[in-house]
Amino acid sequence: MFIFVEILLYALPILAILAWYIKRHLHREKTGLNALRTATEEGLIEPPTLHPEIDHRLCIGCTNCVAACPEQDAHQVLGMIRKKAHLVGPTNCIGHGACKLVCPVGAITLVFGTARRGVDIPLVNPDFQTNVPGIFIAGELGGMGLIRNAVEQGRQAIQSIEKLVRNKHQNQLDVVIVGAGPAGLTGTLGATESKLRHVTIEQEELGGTVAHFPRRKLVMTQPANLPIIGKMNFKEVQKEALIDYWREVEQKTGIKINYGERVDSIAPAANGGFTVTTSRNTYDTRTVLLSIGRTGTPRKLGVPGEEMDKVVYRVIDPAQYRNLNVLVVGGGDSALEAATSIAAEDGTTVALSYRSAAFSRAKPKNRQLVEEMEAKGRLKVLLSSNVKSISDGAVEVSIGDELLSIANDAVVVSAGGILPSAFLKTMGIHVETKWGTE
Ligand SMILES: Cc1cc2nc3c(=O)[nH]c(=O)nc-3n(C[C@H](O)[C@H](O)[C@H](O)COP(=O)(O)OP(=O)(O)OC[C@H]3O[C@@H](n4cnc5c(N)ncnc54)[C@H](O)[C@@H]3O)c2cc1C
Ligand code: SF4
Repeated sequence: MFIFVEILLYALPILAILAWYIKRHLHREKTGLNALRTATEEGLIEPPTLHPEIDHRLCIGCTNCVAACPEQDAHQVLGMIRKKAHLVGPTNCIGHGACKLVCPVGAITLVFGTARRGVDIPLVNPDFQTNVPGIFIAGELGGMGLIRNAVEQGRQAIQSIEKLVRNKHQNQLDVVIVGAGPAGLTGTLGATESKLRHVTIEQEELGGTVAHFPRRKLVMTQPANLPIIGKMNFKEVQKEALIDYWREVEQKTGIKINYGERVDSIAPAANGGFTVTTSRNTYDTRTVLLSIGRTGTPRKLGVPGEEMDKVVYRVIDPAQYRNLNVLVVGGGDSALEAATSIAAEDGTTVALSYRSAAFSRAKPKNRQLVEEMEAKGRLKVLLSSNVKSISDGAVEVSIGDELLSIANDAVVVSAGGILPSAFLKTMGIHVETKWGTE
């Protein structure tokens, strides 16, 4: 009897630990499988840029990589399936690379693109200069994502430019910096510190991709050095606080950024530099720093009134459209998602204009959502329609011979974008397409 009690005394805690382990393992397997199934069903299977490729022959299932991923709290990026790590949320991976660092058996390689989807990476020298002498690239456009990398590269690229233009004073700018995301902002601070004659051109607003993160997104980053300012000492920061910090840096240092101006072309000039043509001006410069990220330039409608402040190319927060009349233009997933998310807000009147006769490019789930919203009277779909003009309180949309005037407070254009690789090729910059390689 006594022996039986003693065995029970030892066995019970062991059994409890075993039960806890099995429960945790099953839960982990279930969430990993669910995440992968959802991503596959929704077609969200291609990682945007740098991402882990996991060699399942080497993986010992320690789960270190899952725990190390900084995005994991917000989205399931890595998960365990049959005791092996898998990229279960491919589109949520932004290339932190923390997984590779913690893998004890070297099972993880960081690669660009996949066998199905190539990713264009421009060829850049260690000094950030491309094959076109005088054109430099910093930040995510060069292939490496993340804010810290963009800051570091923006700083170093300007140092290389400074060496190139030093003591060569001609009647032209030393550098035109294109883009004011983390790379372009840092480049601008560096150019100001080094007293380079420069202009920074930004088609939208300060912060680049960060400005378009969802409201209150927790940004995971690492400390990095900003010229003039010193250490930008964030590890975890809310998107809004980071943008406010950069605005403060902009004010404190007096740097100047030309917002709302888009670079349309960069061509070699007779004097050995470049002519940069923008939506407002032309600039004669010795060098160019391209810090334009990878999201591309949104396609414009090219109609009168498009320059008004009420026209945007991305929805940051659907709630800002409450009680407004909104026109969404486009027929892809982002247009349908924008229209349905705004239509779900109180008091909105939403019209969705698309030039084709059907939403054939969009996912079934989004098409179904549009149908549901239309049936509830929250959304009016205008197929085979074209926006003709935008004015203060209205928009004009043509459908066949008919011209409709619709009351309007805001326009969201989701008509796709011009990818940076096409832009680079027009300048003669060599681009290599990576299909799942380092
Ligand atoms: C959803 C999401 C979440 C992320 N979360 C994190 C995170 O937590 N931590 C992290 O470190 N990184 C994160 N990243 C990655 C990070 O945002 C990018 O790596 C970083 O912003 C790249 O900076 P950049 O300056 O190279 O380019 P961008 O930030 O993309 O800025 C490029 C700028 O160039 C401008 N531009 C482009 N073309 C032109 C033109 N022709 N004329 C004028 N201006 C032009 C654009 O308007 C834009 O402002 C995330 C990315 C995404 C998409
Ligand atoms: S860290 Fe390496 S060994 Fe551990 S689960 Fe991830 S890939 Fe497998």
